Amino acid sequence: MSETSPLVLQIEGLTKRYPGGVIAADAVNLSVSAGELVAIVGESGSGKTTTLKAINRLIDPSDGIVRFQGRDVMALQAHDLRREIGWVMQGDGLFPHLSAAQNIAITPRLLGWDATRIASRVDELLTLVRLDPADFRDRLPHQMSGGQRQRIAIARALAAEPPLMLLDEAFSALDPVTRAGLQEDFIALQKDLNFAAVMVTHDMAEALLLADRILVMKDGKVLQTGTASDLVNRPAEPYVTELLAAPAKQAKAVAALEAGA
Ligand code: ADP
Ligand code: MG
Repeated sequence: MSETSPLVLQIEGLTKRYPGGVIAADAVNLSVSAGELVAIVGESGSGKTTTLKAINRLIDPSDGIVRFQGRDVMALQAHDLRREIGWVMQGDGLFPHLSAAQNIAITPRLLGWDATRIASRVDELLTLVRLDPADFRDRLPHQMSGGQRQRIAIARALAAEPPLMLLDEAFSALDPVTRAGLQEDFIALQKDLNFAAVMVTHDMAEALLLADRILVMKDGKVLQTGTASDLVNRPAEPYVTELLAAPAKQAKAVAALEAGA
């Protein structure tokens, strides 16, 4: 895929040091092409969120370079950059006092779209994430389920057709059935709209199911980058095998992959 699709994101030697000696990200490299979904997997504190936030400049790196569509992000205005990159943060991050439609309309408003264009885009996006516009556009976040709120968060991130989407534990707080439905819908959308995506998750099973490539992090370092099949059949470190073996659901996903390899 990367041979034919343009590179959307290139991270080279990304390092983030905090005072006191913590190296939250340590020489991280990653390239992501249009239409590709890369998962960053690792335990809590491994540097996943730090890496993700360096992409849209919620964090400025100590070292290394991040290029978005070939441009060094440090040379861009942070607020311009964030309008071009979809962001689904941990939790749903919706503004509680704004309706579904108003939440989705945030970026289009910042971009100065007129009211008619915004209203039609909101309805289009609600339909895209499989919520009935007539039923949902005026609902406040507390009037929706967790899964429905997460659908609104995804619609909001997609509003201005970003070439890159960043997701931080976007599905982690949902019950298994809701999560599976939303994962399936998200992956279909991602392939259909052909945006690049970087998805942070502590759940290896989720990464195996959804990602084209997986980057395994521990203590700020990248232990391995590869396809699900690479990780399963050619783990670079015992820790990678450990992550693959953990819960029963993960073991099942691994077994299915091994049978198919
Ligand atoms: P993850 O998302 O994988 O759970 P993070 O990227 O949030 O991990 O954090 C990586 C490491 O950096 C952790 O050890 C965390 O405590 C540390 N860290 C994160 N933010 C800060 C900060 N603002 N100041 C100091 N240390 C931080
Ligand atoms: Mg995190």
